[in-house]
Amino acid sequence: DDAWLSVGDLRSKKLPKEPALDLTLFEKGMALRVLADGKRYQAEVLEVSAARARRAAPIKVRYAGYTAASDEWVGADRVSTKALSKKTGAESKPANKSDERQAVDELVSAGWVIPVETEGALQDHSIAVKDGKILDILPTSEAVKKYRGKSRTNLPNAAIMPGFVNTHSHAPMSFMRGISDDIPLSKWLHTAIWPIEQTLVGPEFVGDGARLAFAEMIMGGTTTTNEMYWCPEDICKAAVEAGIRAAVGMIAIEFPFGGYGTGPDDYLAKGEKMVEKYGKEPLLTFTVSLHAPYTVSDDTIQKGKALCEKYDVPLHIHMHETKEECSDSEKLNKDSNVCHMSTFEGTPLANLRRMGLVTPKLLAVHMTCLTDDEIKWMAEGKANVVHCPSSNLKLASGFCRVGDLLEAGVNVAIGTDGASSNNTVDMMAEMKLAAILAKAVAKNAEAVPADVALRMATLHGARALGLEDRIGSLKVGKEADMIAVDLSGLPLLPAPTSGRRDASFDPVTHIVYSSTRDQVTDVWVRGRRLLRSRKLLTINIAQVRRDAKRWGERITELLAELKRKATEEAAGADKAATGS
Ligand SMILES: [Zn+2]
Repeated sequence: DDAWLSVGDLRSKKLPKEPALDLTLFEKGMALRVLADGKRYQAEVLEVSAARARRAAPIKVRYAGYTAASDEWVGADRVSTKALSKKTGAESKPANKSDERQAVDELVSAGWVIPVETEGALQDHSIAVKDGKILDILPTSEAVKKYRGKSRTNLPNAAIMPGFVNTHSHAPMSFMRGISDDIPLSKWLHTAIWPIEQTLVGPEFVGDGARLAFAEMIMGGTTTTNEMYWCPEDICKAAVEAGIRAAVGMIAIEFPFGGYGTGPDDYLAKGEKMVEKYGKEPLLTFTVSLHAPYTVSDDTIQKGKALCEKYDVPLHIHMHETKEECSDSEKLNKDSNVCHMSTFEGTPLANLRRMGLVTPKLLAVHMTCLTDDEIKWMAEGKANVVHCPSSNLKLASGFCRVGDLLEAGVNVAIGTDGASSNNTVDMMAEMKLAAILAKAVAKNAEAVPADVALRMATLHGARALGLEDRIGSLKVGKEADMIAVDLSGLPLLPAPTSGRRDASFDPVTHIVYSSTRDQVTDVWVRGRRLLRSRKLLTINIAQVRRDAKRWGERITELLAELKRKATEEAAGADKAATGS
């Protein structure tokens, strides 16, 4: 049974590392010379695989004059390097006169393209990208004849889809993940989050924390994030450096905050300065981000409304996060720390409606407590709900009536909320949770099907942020914010066989219900690659790790100090009570 094997078939630590093949140099139909039995044969590329299992031999070839029975997977050791260098040379030289194909910046071919704009998935399609925009979406067989990509990407086992739009996030809170789990919202804010923020948060904390979140987001396929946090200028800076698209909030809250400013007027003035400084950045847009009805007065809400009109930007606010927020506001129970600051007797949404703020510009985050009338107001006002299922479940805040909202015609987008209450910024997981939780809440398995969940996680977010004409789906003329999801991993098998969910295995249901964010291999924002074969190209991971370690140590020290103080205070109270 002795046999001669190719190096690619052998496994040993003593073997030199397999020279990696640049798969972007290969495409279906390309002619090659392949080494077999000691001779070089003319062959044609049948398939290119980026799957891990095929790393040693990622190219499937058909030998000229031979049948399919002789087809083989081959690797770097057997593909003629001469042919490769010729091919590489051709790419860098000006176009051959006989090559009449239109030059584009990048031609991305994939087993599937999921436009979201239209239903279902397109098999063996390509996307031509030029000047950051989608120039064309067409079958790969036509694309290779029509376009010559300066950069060529071939992902036969992947689906290309629009990047996720995380419609509610507090990116810098990444450093606070895991410090305050398993307690309710009010206690969570008052005993852990706010004391830490008052002590540590400033420009450096915000920039470093945002960078960690943006790295996590990009690796998980998020291309746009809607940010509400202190020191928003430092979020802008981190977003621009990372190349992620961001809507950044001019934040306001009623109380002074050491690391940022003295109160709402100061915060909003600083927000305006941010818009002046970063307004021309192509990937940045802005919102007015008011924290919540129980932390902003009607006066501040009015000022926020004026800024929304001045800059034509959305109003982003936490609303109806818990039942108590609604019932205590209706009763004007001012002893409650979640009663709204207004003197109006009614729910916070009724108050906003009274002030003329239930409009397409409203992004109401959470909305776990909603009456039928309130759903009607949201639909009539064409206002947006941002659903954050992980945060609502973990803080036991309540359940958003997503199925009813969608049925009423309300645009429902999805957000992760901060990593301090989620504890990740994983939009792939949030999308699945939104789909399955909606079924349980509606007691209807047909509520929020996979394609609707995918729209909520992409196009609905873009619509809420006023970016629907630029991003959120793959459509000619839109900006190329897109991701590749590898469908060849075991948890996603059998591989999709049809682009229609009623016909057979379908990439959309595979992505929504079976995939995790680790299957995201490549990410583009405005045509620029941020992640290539799971390698981050715009963020220094070693730096992110060092920052996380440093801030983690400072938070640990501070938590110990807070605990010591609480114990001392409790002991003092005991003493006073016993009169000793
Ligand atoms: Zn939030």
